[in-house]
Amino acid sequence: MLRTHHCGELRAAHIGQKVNLCGWVSKVRDKGFVLWIDLRDRYGITQLVLNEEISNEASLKIARSLGREFVLSVKGEVIERESKNDKIPSGAVEIRVEDIEILNPSKLPPFTIENDTDGGEDLRMQYRYLDIRREPVKEKLILRHKVAQLVRNYLSNENFIEVETPVLIKSTPEGARDFIVPSRLNENQWYALPQSPQTFKQLLMVGGMDKYFQIVKCFRDEDLRADRQPEFTQIDCEMSFVEREDILTIFEGMTKHILKEARGLDMPKFDRMTYADAMNLYGSDKPDTRFGMSFNYITEVAQGKGFGIFDSAESVIAINVKDGNSYTRKEIDKLTDFVKSQQVGAKGLIYCRCNEDGSFKSSVDKFYDQDALDQWASICGAEANDIIFVLSGDKATTQSQMSELRLHIGEQRGLRNPDEYKALWVLDFPLLEYDEDSQRYHAMHHPFTAPLEQDLDKMESSPGEVRANAYDMVINGVEVGGGSIRIFDKDLQSKMFSLLGFSKEDAQAQFGFLMQAFEYGAPPHGGIALGFDRLCSLIGGTSSIRDYIAFPKNNSGRDVMIDAPSPLNAEQLKDLNIK
Ligand code: ASP
Repeated sequence: MLRTHHCGELRAAHIGQKVNLCGWVSKVRDKGFVLWIDLRDRYGITQLVLNEEISNEASLKIARSLGREFVLSVKGEVIERESKNDKIPSGAVEIRVEDIEILNPSKLPPFTIENDTDGGEDLRMQYRYLDIRREPVKEKLILRHKVAQLVRNYLSNENFIEVETPVLIKSTPEGARDFIVPSRLNENQWYALPQSPQTFKQLLMVGGMDKYFQIVKCFRDEDLRADRQPEFTQIDCEMSFVEREDILTIFEGMTKHILKEARGLDMPKFDRMTYADAMNLYGSDKPDTRFGMSFNYITEVAQGKGFGIFDSAESVIAINVKDGNSYTRKEIDKLTDFVKSQQVGAKGLIYCRCNEDGSFKSSVDKFYDQDALDQWASICGAEANDIIFVLSGDKATTQSQMSELRLHIGEQRGLRNPDEYKALWVLDFPLLEYDEDSQRYHAMHHPFTAPLEQDLDKMESSPGEVRANAYDMVINGVEVGGGSIRIFDKDLQSKMFSLLGFSKEDAQAQFGFLMQAFEYGAPPHGGIALGFDRLCSLIGGTSSIRDYIAFPKNNSGRDVMIDAPSPLNAEQLKDLNIK
C-alpha cells in the first residue's frame, strides 16, 4: 500500500502505529544529527523526523539529497512530538522515518509554494498546477466543489433534474458576441458556443421536464473587463407552472442554505426593490445595501439661486455622509479628483459641511445662504458633524457618477464589510432599452422575457415604458444572477421579435424551432441563472472570480499555461475550408 494515511490525518491517538505516507517535500531542516521534513499533500502537512539512531544510512542519505517539491513515499512510526505545533491539526505528532523513497524528483519551482508566495500573478498562471498546491488556491477549489455539491443536493431535493444541453449550437445575433466553431462536415457553416442554455431549457419545459437545472459552462466573446472570463459557469434553472414568487422563494432558499452550510452564516431575508427605486436611490441596478447614503434629489431647492451649473442641470443629487465633517480639505480634494477621474467623469464635487454649532459651510457659499443650505440638510436628513456631497447634470449620468462616489466612500469608511451578506431582489426591469447606435430596441434581459401583465397594453404604444417580469439577485453590490418569467405564447413571442427589429423571416430563421415548439402546448414557465464563479467568490469572501477557477484565462482571454488561443497549421485550416 503506497499510503495508509494522508498528511492531514495523524493525531495523538495514532501514536505507536506504523504508517505509510506520500506527499511533496514542503521544507527540510537539517540539524546534522537530526533532520526534519515537512511532507505536504492536499489534506495537510505532517512532520517527518530522521536521525542517525533510528533511520538507516540509505534513508538518511536520501533525506539529505531532497529538494523542495520532491515526491516521497515514507514508512515509519507515529511518535509524540517534543515541541508541538498547535497551528496545524497534525502538529502533536511526527513520523519517525524508517524508510524513505523518492517517487519523483522536482526541479526547483519558479516560486515558493507557500501561502504568501513570492510568485507574481503571471508566473503563477503559467505554472498554475504549482499554484494549486498552495493552500489558499486549493481551499478555494475545495469550496467551489462544496458549493456545487450543496447546489446539486438542494435542487435535487426540490425535484429538479440535471440535464446536459449541447455545447455546439446555433449562433444568434441577440446578446453578446458568440464564440464560433467551424464545421468541417458542413462547408461554410458554423456552430456557436452557448452564451447560456436559454432556449434549450425552455424546450425542456415544453418537453415536460418540469424542473431543470445544470451547472454549465457558458461562453461570451466580450471585451474583457477586470474579473470577466470568456468562459464561465452558471447554475442554470427553469421551472414550469410557476409565477415569479415561486422562483424567488426557491433560489433565495438555496442561497441562504449554501451560505449557512459553507460558511455557517445566517442571511437575513432578502429585501426587494424595483429597478426604478434602485436607480433613484442608489443610481445602480445592483446596489450595495450593506450601508445607507442613499440619494436625495435637491434639484428644486438648489435651482434659481444663480448657480449656473445647478440651474442648467436636469438633476441635482446629494448624499449625506454621517460624521463626514471630519474630512480634511485634502481628503475632499482627493474625493474631487476621484469624481473627476476618467472612470467617473464628473466635472466637480460640491460639498456642504454641517458644523457642530448648527451652521453650514459649503463650497458654494456665494450662492447659498444658511437658510438655503439648511433646506439641503433637511432633505438629506443631515445632522451636526455630517457632510453633504452634491453632483449635478443629466439624470442618468449623475446617478451613475454618484453611485461610484457612494461606493468609494463606503469602501473608504469600512462600510462594505466582506463578512456581512446583504441580499436583495431587484424587480420589474424595463423590458427593452433603446440603442442609439443601432436605432432600435434591444431586450434588456433577453427576447424570451415576458412583459408584466399590467404593461401589456403599452407594448405597441410606448414599448420603452413596458416593464419586464424579470428579477436579479444582488448580494453586496454584486449581481449574482438573474432570470425572468418567459413568454410562452407564440403570438406574443412574434410581437416581441418584431419590436426587436426582426423581420418575420429572420425570426423564423433564428428562432423558428422555439416558435414551433410553442405550438405544441408550452406550459407557463420561468427561470433564473446564477453566476457560479461569482457566487463562490462571494461566499469565499474575495472579490476575484479567477481565484475560484482552476485554470482561468487572463485579461486578454489567454490561457498562458497551455498558450491558447494559437494558430492552426495549413492542413487543419484546409480541412475546415478556412483560407
Ligand atoms: N439565460 C439567462 C442568462 O444567462 C438567465 C435566465 O433568464 O434564466 O442571463
